[in-house]
Amino acid sequence: MLFKEIIGQQAVKDRLKRSVKEGRISHAQLFLGPQGSGSLALALAYAQYISCSNKQESDSCGHCLSCVKYNKLVHPDLHFVYPVALSKDIRVSTDVATKWREVFLDNPYITLFSWFEMQDAENKQAIIGVDESAEILRKLSLTTYEAEYKIMIIWQAEKMNQQAANKLLKILEEPPDKTLFLLVCENEDQLLRTIVSRTQLIKIGKINETDLINALIESNDLSPEAAANISRLADGNYSEALFLVNENENAEQNLLSFQKLMRASIKFDPKAVLPWIDEISAAGRERQKNFLNYALHIMRESMVLNYADVSLIKLGVEEQGFVKKFSPFIHTNNLERFIEELNKAHYHMERNANPKILFMDLAFKFNELLNLPKPI
Ligand SMILES: [Zn+2]
Repeated sequence: MLFKEIIGQQAVKDRLKRSVKEGRISHAQLFLGPQGSGSLALALAYAQYISCSNKQESDSCGHCLSCVKYNKLVHPDLHFVYPVALSKDIRVSTDVATKWREVFLDNPYITLFSWFEMQDAENKQAIIGVDESAEILRKLSLTTYEAEYKIMIIWQAEKMNQQAANKLLKILEEPPDKTLFLLVCENEDQLLRTIVSRTQLIKIGKINETDLINALIESNDLSPEAAANISRLADGNYSEALFLVNENENAEQNLLSFQKLMRASIKFDPKAVLPWIDEISAAGRERQKNFLNYALHIMRESMVLNYADVSLIKLGVEEQGFVKKFSPFIHTNNLERFIEELNKAHYHMERNANPKILFMDLAFKFNELLNLPKPI
């Protein structure tokens, strides 16, 4: 991770680089910043800069042996600790290291929620457990030694349970030589006071508006108006901004898919139903779950429109046009069943149901429900 790849945060970047140039690298530092501010990315860029063997004035070189390994997160002196969903097979961060690399390299502005979602563990508790402290000691005792420092980045440090935090505290009190601990945290008050007092605080604020807008235009191909709009909603949180960009794209696809399903299932036309099933089955599970949630939303808003003014529905312009035509099909005789079927599908989707069977079943159910007579 290079500093220049991180959005904004110029003052923090300057401060970090200065500490390296002046040789004032504190052995334990706390990167404290709100979600989407880039605190984890900053900690990593800082670690890479410290290890780079050909440091430039403003950034790591990006090409030396150290940087090449950092670029893939495989440097033997770089270690990560992050929350995992504890299970029989998963005890410590290393157990899911491959997934971690893949997820982080795809999006350095990862949130705890999306990290757990990627592991299909969004309903599980995020913990850095006590086994992790033994693992930290083991990693620090490894003899591989390519860089001057061994660096341990602990992301979501506030998720350490009491035992893990106490053990880490002991390590911080008697730090091994040439070892850096970079704790990355969103909620300082959830960390042990004693840990906070043993670390040097690097405070990171939200991304400023201009930097966020520019990043959205450059990296996500948005128009200046759309970027400004998303930036206003995201309020300095790039993770949220990315989520909103994605939602916008998803909403368009979801509306199309929903329209196809309704047209195909009202008369149950296999020539239309089967291609729709193939199409949605080919999408990833996250997209499928997202579609089911979207369908729930459209059903509810259709019912609202039946009873209230169009100004009360939460829909985009195109969606409104569709829902005005579609809402007569939704009424008190079928709304609850629609909601029940969609929730059931979502439940089974989370438990790895076969999407072809699930969506075929849904199309049959929708055929029945769309043709139920309206209450008189
Ligand atoms: Zn380098």
